[in-house]
Amino acid sequence: MENAEMNVAAPAQKRGAFDMNLAEWRDFVQEDLKLPRYTADQICQWVYQKKVFDFRAMTNLSKALRERLPQLVDIALPRLAQRQVSQDGTRKYLWRLADGQYIESVLMDHGNRYTACISSQVGCPLRCTFCATGQQGFTRNLTAGEIVAHFIAMEADLGADINNVVFMGMGEPLLNYDNVIRAVRMLLEPKMRGLSVRHVTISTSGIPEYIRRLADEELGIYLCLSLHAPNNELRSRLMPVNEKFPLPQVLDALRYWQKKTGVRLTVEYVLLKNQNDMPECAYELVTLFQGLQVYVNLIPYNPVEGSRYSRPSASRITPFMNVLKKLGIECELRKEHGTDIDAACGQLRGRALN
Ligand code: SAH
Ligand code: SF4
Repeated sequence: MENAEMNVAAPAQKRGAFDMNLAEWRDFVQEDLKLPRYTADQICQWVYQKKVFDFRAMTNLSKALRERLPQLVDIALPRLAQRQVSQDGTRKYLWRLADGQYIESVLMDHGNRYTACISSQVGCPLRCTFCATGQQGFTRNLTAGEIVAHFIAMEADLGADINNVVFMGMGEPLLNYDNVIRAVRMLLEPKMRGLSVRHVTISTSGIPEYIRRLADEELGIYLCLSLHAPNNELRSRLMPVNEKFPLPQVLDALRYWQKKTGVRLTVEYVLLKNQNDMPECAYELVTLFQGLQVYVNLIPYNPVEGSRYSRPSASRITPFMNVLKKLGIECELRKEHGTDIDAACGQLRGRALN
């Protein structure tokens, strides 16, 4: 066995450990290394579950394999460029990718469980007017490996497993559909990270075609719609993407998604003072939800430097919430995390770019 391992020629370019899904890991060990496929399962267990990123420390692999693997596969985590830790335990990360680009992620501490807010793109092409990431424009999509690796790097930094993953960092996940779904499948795979489907959420500004595709995937993960306005006119002012995909199209796709999956839909609504926080807006919102089972998450705007928007006070938020409740809409005011650090996604990178 050891001799067979030693006869493998090194390819010109190393593979990325996080770029391979389980089937590809198994093909690699069987075809390139001529080893049984459970070797792949063992390696994935080291990387994804024990967070060991050095092949030489994988003690249940043969010595020859431990020496050979570093020449063939690169376990490249992104480099930590900056980390801010809030008084409430929220950690905000700025990661440097192999090509020098930066992405952000946030870790929220809910006492007995953690949630990671991760990115799908470097920047975002959709330019929502209240969003720090949107102001930076779009650079590129993340690869599936980069998505998975910055999550695993957060767990390694924390020294514990993170329970929930939400795609609410930089970028529009449904505009990087294939890589995001591939990353999700790797995180769900029991022999890799083994997250459960109800612990993964994709947040979208509403791309109808991909909402339908996601429904057809039958993954079982949660979906969040970033709604932020009860009508097309206001929504288009806040979110230019609404011009291309107006509300009726988005809501149709969501009804399809809910019919197909049976999973509750979460609606996010960022409260912007005097823009979308009037009680009339709450009344109007309810009419949109016909034929949908929704849960509304109200998020007080997280101020972004140089922005024309401001955060409403409790005296405006409470009446808004009361209207929704009176009309039978389940809703919650999102507990704020990391308000003493640059917790709105895009702010750390924005600062790094300036
Ligand atoms: N592009 C996707 C996912 C990333 S944004 C989306 O838009 O859904 C994640 C969430 O953060 C969205 O609901 C977005 O509207 C919200 N958000 C962006 N900037 C914010 C800010 N300054 N304060 C509060 N929420 C913000
Ligand atoms: Fe992009 Fe989401 Fe920011 Fe809009 S809110 S610009 S879709 S990241």
